[in-house]
Amino acid sequence: MQFDLLLKGGRLIDPSSGLDAQRDVAIADDGRIAAIDADIPFDRAGRVIDATGSIVAPGLIDLHSHVYWGGTSLGVDADRLAAKSGTTTFIDAGSAGAGNFLGFRRHVIERSKVRILAYVNISFAGIFGFSQTVSVGECSDLGLCNPREVVAAAREHREVVVGVKVRSGRHAGGTSGIAPVDLALEAADQAGLALMAHIDEPPPGRSEVLPRLRKGDVLTHCFRPFPNAPVFASGAVRPDMRLARERGVIFDIGHGMGSFDFAVAKAMLSEGLAPDVISSDVHLYCVDGPAFDILVCMSKLLALGMPLVEVLRAATQRPAEAIARPDLGKLTVGAVGDIAVLRLRPGRFTFVDAVGASLVAEQRLVSDGIVIGGTWWPNEAVDDLSDTERFEAHGHETHVDVVSRHFGHSHD
Ligand SMILES: [Zn+2]
Repeated sequence: MQFDLLLKGGRLIDPSSGLDAQRDVAIADDGRIAAIDADIPFDRAGRVIDATGSIVAPGLIDLHSHVYWGGTSLGVDADRLAAKSGTTTFIDAGSAGAGNFLGFRRHVIERSKVRILAYVNISFAGIFGFSQTVSVGECSDLGLCNPREVVAAAREHREVVVGVKVRSGRHAGGTSGIAPVDLALEAADQAGLALMAHIDEPPPGRSEVLPRLRKGDVLTHCFRPFPNAPVFASGAVRPDMRLARERGVIFDIGHGMGSFDFAVAKAMLSEGLAPDVISSDVHLYCVDGPAFDILVCMSKLLALGMPLVEVLRAATQRPAEAIARPDLGKLTVGAVGDIAVLRLRPGRFTFVDAVGASLVAEQRLVSDGIVIGGTWWPNEAVDDLSDTERFEAHGHETHVDVVSRHFGHSHD
């Protein structure tokens, strides 16, 4: 017995190497990819997964998610979403700040089966006041935004911190304007990390935030609706978006509850400005729509005409680059054995964006399961999926309904 696990007969798509062909993938007992070949015999592995008819891709990396489950009101349980959404790495986008990062690490990150990494929020308390009835922006009091605390937390938790997060805008920052962005940038510079900047309703406007972002910094909610949309009402792309793209600012979808607009996406794609990264911004108030998870978000971009390999690249190679983790997001010998086994399922699917517009598609991506660090984790629910589904927000549930449905069961 030479290998622990063998994925056999699948269509391997690895955007990072350009490989798209039928290949078997073997994983050694150290959890790393040991062999990729056209035919690896069954008897050389302890366990064989039949991947015939499926796409074998690098494990998906959801660059913008909220998985501080139990510690913040908006957190969802990453382990419950992982196999269902093909996600092997959740990047939490600033749910925790310096003041509560240790709890996130000890109680959630270290206990999760799925890999979790995080941006640390410029606000000391993280996203503390976010629900359907409470909305207190964590940057509305600048006394909470202390770059020294952020740098100290980033150093203390360097194994899991990938950057600094700031949510600027009227909802997250009240009347603070651009100040939280400048404080977060200073912290990111000092810590040697990238910044992820959220924009919502101005102020500050996108035109204040974008010129500040450096090469490798992330603009999340890049295809958000009016106001602060990246396109004019005519559909023409705003010049500051082009300048930011040329400078190497990373455009991240961050779908969430209110931050993805099909009309904006169509306009951006038609002008050649595809997103660099497709992420869900999944949290308690969009996990039941309109975002659901990264696979639904990827299926939307597929339906808008983005080629499959580019959709996969935007959820594997590109987010791995954004967090400076070249060992993740690729399927090559020696890489970490994080794999998504996906399928393009035919049917009639109606996708709904964050402003209520719909788009009908004849296929969507579903997950058969994932491999994390060499261990196979099947999606138990894949056979129950319908081939006619409407992906809209369920607007009539209470917080308690959502919490009990998602969290009322054991992990397994
Ligand atoms: Zn978010």
